[in-house]
Amino acid sequence: MFTAFLIKYAEIGIKGRNRHLFEDALVHQIKIALKKCEGCFSIHKSQGRIHVEAQGEFDYQETVEQLQKVFGISGISPVEYAEDEGFEKLCDRAVMYIGQVYPDRRKSFKVNTRRARKDYPKESMEINAGVGEAVLNAYPEMRVDVHEPDILLNIEIRDKIYLYSETIPGPGGMPVGTGGKAMLLLSGGIDSPVAGYMIAKRGVKIDAVYFHAPPYTSERAKQKVVDLAKIVSAYTGPIWLHVINFTDIQLYIHEKCPHEELTIIMRRYMMRIAEHIAGETGCLGLITGESIGQVASQTLNSLAATNEVCEMPVYRPLIGFDKQEIVEVANKIGTFETSILPYEDCCTIFVAKHPVTKPNLNVIRRHEINLEEKIEELTKTALETEELIIVE
Ligand code: ATP
Ligand code: MG
Repeated sequence: MFTAFLIKYAEIGIKGRNRHLFEDALVHQIKIALKKCEGCFSIHKSQGRIHVEAQGEFDYQETVEQLQKVFGISGISPVEYAEDEGFEKLCDRAVMYIGQVYPDRRKSFKVNTRRARKDYPKESMEINAGVGEAVLNAYPEMRVDVHEPDILLNIEIRDKIYLYSETIPGPGGMPVGTGGKAMLLLSGGIDSPVAGYMIAKRGVKIDAVYFHAPPYTSERAKQKVVDLAKIVSAYTGPIWLHVINFTDIQLYIHEKCPHEELTIIMRRYMMRIAEHIAGETGCLGLITGESIGQVASQTLNSLAATNEVCEMPVYRPLIGFDKQEIVEVANKIGTFETSILPYEDCCTIFVAKHPVTKPNLNVIRRHEINLEEKIEELTKTALETEELIIVE
């Protein structure tokens, strides 16, 4: 029966003078999200609220699911609008509303009125009492409970009258685009898509870079990364995915450096290249899916060694998460099933039997000198031959 939604947002409210920027960004993100739905929608803000109204046919379930992916939304209330045609009509509307939304009426309720338009002839308390009485008269099986009602019937008196009683939770966070842009190092694993999701949830727009090592990593492994980016983009909006051919750099490191340091040195080059692309594309930081102690390359020593090569801040939102906690988020956002598909990623091919867990920075730097002859040119070629995929 509902054809409109009242969108609630939490944190935006506290942003003072920037409030309208946040609201505009939220409206923009809602528009992007609803483009994927059947139907036409009018999305507008008025009086500190955002309204989404379907114009004609639409799929209720699909629309709610899309809205639940828009960061910045704390709640989605299906709402009915009524013209102001006097108090009696309002009571009739409320009775009809309860009748339609709650087929089983053995429930307690409370009416909660907000009179935003002060020229309405009745005060909020009077409206609560009057509507409550009308509902009780129509449905004697119901009862009033002002402390813990099963149904909280909200009435807002504005230019129109709004009736709503249900709030579907949104994802929270801040609208994407209000927090600048960052570059996600996206692999085919479980962690990095979750890391991207978490930073985007704070309003940051995401681009991504994937290091591909054909023929050691397959086309399918690359497709899996594209698929993961696509799932994440349902929350973040379009993602520009930079695919970098890393094979020659990896082989060169393999040839010139001790095998137990391979992963660390390789990670250092990934970070350098990612930072370079980030700088060129207006990103203000890097994002990885690292978590302390998860693998040899994620001990504090190893993280220090990887971190050292970047000047940009590196955001690691999963740093204190256990694997199980990461898996929970991956399941919630829908990336887990894709992440666990068994296509090798470039790390599994060049891993040493006994990678260092406490790399010594001086030793690492010294070994990187072995790469001096060709590394600059290889990096240049890798950057020049990047493939850009716009994922949406
Ligand atoms: P994930 O589950 O995200 O693949 P992981 O546990 O496999 O992580 P590592 O392989 O050590 O961990 O990688 C740590 C982080 O480095 C990843 O979360 C990701 O951000 C980045 N990374 C690793 N491999 C690649 C790659 N081939 N392309 C882009 N980023 C990568
Ligand atoms: Mg990985």
